Amino acid sequence: MGAPKAVGAHSPRPSPFPRPSPEATGSLPPPLRISAIKQGPTHVSEPAVRVPASVDWPNSLRVGFHLSIAGGPARLFRRFDERGCTAFQMFLGSPRSWEVAVWSDDWLAAFREERCRRGSPPIVAHTRYLLNLASRHDEVRARSIATLRAEYRSAARLGADFLVLHMGSHPERGQGLKLMQEGLIRALAEVAGPHPLLLLENTAGEANDLGTAPADLATVRAGLPFPTGVCWDTCHAFQAGFDFTTAAGRLGLERALVRAFGTDEVAVVHLNDAMFPRGRGRDRHAALDQGHIGAEALAAFLRSPLLRGATVIFETPQPDGPDDPSADLANRDRLHRAFLATRSDVPSLQVTSCGRWRRCLRR
Ligand SMILES: [Zn+2]
Ligand SMILES: [Zn+2]
Repeated sequence: MGAPKAVGAHSPRPSPFPRPSPEATGSLPPPLRISAIKQGPTHVSEPAVRVPASVDWPNSLRVGFHLSIAGGPARLFRRFDERGCTAFQMFLGSPRSWEVAVWSDDWLAAFREERCRRGSPPIVAHTRYLLNLASRHDEVRARSIATLRAEYRSAARLGADFLVLHMGSHPERGQGLKLMQEGLIRALAEVAGPHPLLLLENTAGEANDLGTAPADLATVRAGLPFPTGVCWDTCHAFQAGFDFTTAAGRLGLERALVRAFGTDEVAVVHLNDAMFPRGRGRDRHAALDQGHIGAEALAAFLRSPLLRGATVIFETPQPDGPDDPSADLANRDRLHRAFLATRSDVPSLQVTSCGRWRRCLRR
């Protein structure tokens, strides 16, 4: 579950990421204060906004929020500015309807221009929640397959870097994984390539969820004729039993990720605290430090070499709606302070290799 929002299409290849800013090894700026702001760009069509100073996050991470596209590209990127994002996530239409957004050429041109002015930050497109490629019901599966194909094309036209898809659900795991894989092949075999890169997301373990274990994602990915990566949601993983709150727990998680994916396949992290205690299988996100994981445990996880250069997206509650950035800024500030508090060496796997897709993006 996450905050709502949307977008997508086919066009020139997304431009390669700008190089990550130099890693902030020992000198993170002080915690973000809303008063420490600079004037926003003056050439945007919306009124100039006051923009939080951007932060060089550790581990070459890009950090942003799930943003609403309501109101069009200028409004979307104003939300981006107000939160000091260096990446963002959006939906490609209403997440709870089957309708895929169709953007006009003008809309897309405005979107590209606004994005370009911000240095072409990474874009994560999120597929709608209705999709279940592993459904027992033929109709739902067929509709999910057709909609996923449309969303992929939409994300490509938009120039998104990633398209995130939740693993589906099915009462029988083996059969569900098989249907999921077959559905992906039917949807995307003739369509998908490295841009956008399809990412499979782990799940919390609610009713018949597939994908609580990294091995589920690995099984599905192994048989696909197009490239894929992984989106790792911290709330979902915690609900599935992974413990972020101790060094031993984080090391165990890192080992599980390496066993399933190797060292370089987690391209996006959904950074959410969890409203329920570990292992409950409840997909309820909480603001950082208002759940059972805590910002410092999450910051320690984000220092993992497995996540170097990853895109980090908060899907934390926005209680006052998409146009009030205060909840998002509070989460960003908590993460920032947690990084300062966990600067000392955090035990983690030693990883030296660099992965296929991330090497490509860093060239
Ligand atoms: Zn969720
Ligand atoms: Zn998520």
